[in-house]
Amino acid sequence: MRTKTVKDIDVTSKRVLVRVDFNVPMGPGGIRDDTRIRACLPTIRYLIDKRARVILCSHLGRPKGKVVESLRLAPVAGRLSELLGRQVKSLKDCVGPDVETEVSAMRDGDVVLLENLRFHPGEETNDPGFARALSRLADVYVNDAFSASHRAHASIVGVTRYLPSVAGFLMEKELTVLGGLLENPEKPFAAVIGGAKVSGKLGVMENIATGVDALIVGGGMAATFLKSEGYGVGKSLVEDDRLQYVRDLSEKARSLDVSLLLPADVVITENLDGSAGSRTVLVGDIPDGWAIADIGPVTIANYTRELGECKTVFWNGPMGVFEVPEFAAGTREIATVMSTLGAVTVVGGGSTVEAVSSLGLADKMTHVSTGGGATLEFLSGKPLPGITALADASRRVLPA
Ligand code: ADP
Ligand code: MG
Repeated sequence: MRTKTVKDIDVTSKRVLVRVDFNVPMGPGGIRDDTRIRACLPTIRYLIDKRARVILCSHLGRPKGKVVESLRLAPVAGRLSELLGRQVKSLKDCVGPDVETEVSAMRDGDVVLLENLRFHPGEETNDPGFARALSRLADVYVNDAFSASHRAHASIVGVTRYLPSVAGFLMEKELTVLGGLLENPEKPFAAVIGGAKVSGKLGVMENIATGVDALIVGGGMAATFLKSEGYGVGKSLVEDDRLQYVRDLSEKARSLDVSLLLPADVVITENLDGSAGSRTVLVGDIPDGWAIADIGPVTIANYTRELGECKTVFWNGPMGVFEVPEFAAGTREIATVMSTLGAVTVVGGGSTVEAVSSLGLADKMTHVSTGGGATLEFLSGKPLPGITALADASRRVLPA
């Protein structure tokens, strides 16, 4: 999908409304992880350099249309100020006369952050009045929030009806890299799929099956696949209502000549919290009352060999319950192998990104997607409302 970007328009002295995803994890000590803020810096810095008036907007958490004091964006403005080395003013609301007054006082190169969009119910209902009120603040709209673009919200979809709209650099990168996986991946191409949310990932596997050479299965996903092939999987996480779908998917993979790699051995336990010890067994030997917690060493070796052949690898979903050190080896080894490949390596998914980051390997990947649900929906081939709206609107934008 081609969308125009901030580089295609004249932004100097313009009021530019930038939708970012600053939905950062907050703890008692403030922001726990500022990755999402850092990810938007290229767009923000570019706009400052071009002497635009930068009006940032984001959601934080789920305030459900009301003001929730703990979900104010002021701490985010504070962190962003530090990262930019210049003051970012935090406004008390995101629409209305007071905000309009503040914005009209901005000078070229200034940056403000509007208050949490979701304090207004019109954000999530994509209310045209709310979208209109937001758009009144600006001359141009920039969407740099790929990870929120699977939501048809006012700041994502509604505003594109009222303002010339283009993509920011983070959005552009996500679309280029993820779009590249679907359109023209360098082959051989493998998708490694694990994690717990089986049904959420089957759509990705189904859509990507036509482009990959191998589907590599681990994590909680593995039990559903193994059970669909007739293995006993004890009390492992299984989505029983998906067994037929999984059988059909395996059949599709076979007919497309895609190798479907399932674990040969697994680490099992009677309790996934790590309190009950573990054993490593072949997949045919999982006793009742035990659950798969990680892929085993033979499987790690098999998967490593397969990945070593690849020129493109996409990974979503941990290979085991990596939060428990005893069950973290599969995830750690796959992350390590990927970090050393001379291949395009793309990682997506909340837990997967967390695992890769905590291993210090994020910088070793070609791309770490900022989207969780949005990345999966995109790779499932579903049109994302925000991307469709942006592409439609950006076609109406004339080059600078
Ligand atoms: P992501 O956020 O990367 O898309 P998911 O949300 O689907 O991944 O799944 C992440 C969770 O999957 C982790 O909390 C991990 O502990 C869990 N998990 C991985 N393997 C298993 C397993 N064999 N059984 C149960 N849970 C698992
Ligand atoms: Mg998750």
